[in-house]
Amino acid sequence: DDMLLYRGFKKMEHTFIAIKPDGVQRGLEFKLVGIKVVVPSKDFVQKHYHDLKERPFFNGSCDFLSSGPVIAMVWEGEGVIRYGRKLIGATDPQKSEPGTIRGDLAVVVGRNIIHGSDGPVTAKDEINLWFKPQKLVSYTNNAEKWIYGDN
Ligand code: GDP
Ligand code: MG
Repeated sequence: DDMLLYRGFKKMEHTFIAIKPDGVQRGLEFKLVGIKVVVPSKDFVQKHYHDLKERPFFNGSCDFLSSGPVIAMVWEGEGVIRYGRKLIGATDPQKSEPGTIRGDLAVVVGRNIIHGSDGPVTAKDEINLWFKPQKLVSYTNNAEKWIYGDN
């Protein structure tokens, strides 16, 4: 039997996909420096959403975020926090612009698909919460000098 069986996995086919260095180098203006799939615990997501603990939707948001697999990523680049938020769109999908992820793909605020840090302080806190520093990768993209210039 050549199927891999991990603890809790159904007997199902799996594949390993990797973007090779040429794909990483050619693909993106912003750099992906960390990624993992995780089902976070309720305790964990309460830390993630700690600034919302007085809000009426806090418990529901925490139940939801811990209900299944989350793809957690760290992206790097000049202005990436602000640009990430712009790409994601307004918190309420009814108010987010077409062309944004939430605007195009979500309908209600409690199921708005995607999270992005709202500023430098929360970005730092959230990266530290979700990733061990040694799991992040530092590398130079060959296109960086064309994206940023020399200064
Ligand atoms: P974000 O930074 O745009 O994700 O928004 P917030 O930090 O204000 O809220 C975090 C998450 O809580 C949002 O992405 C929503 O999923 C959820 N949320 C925010 N406001 C509401 C609300 O009024 N009702 C409900 N049900 N969920 C909300
Ligand atoms: Mg937020």
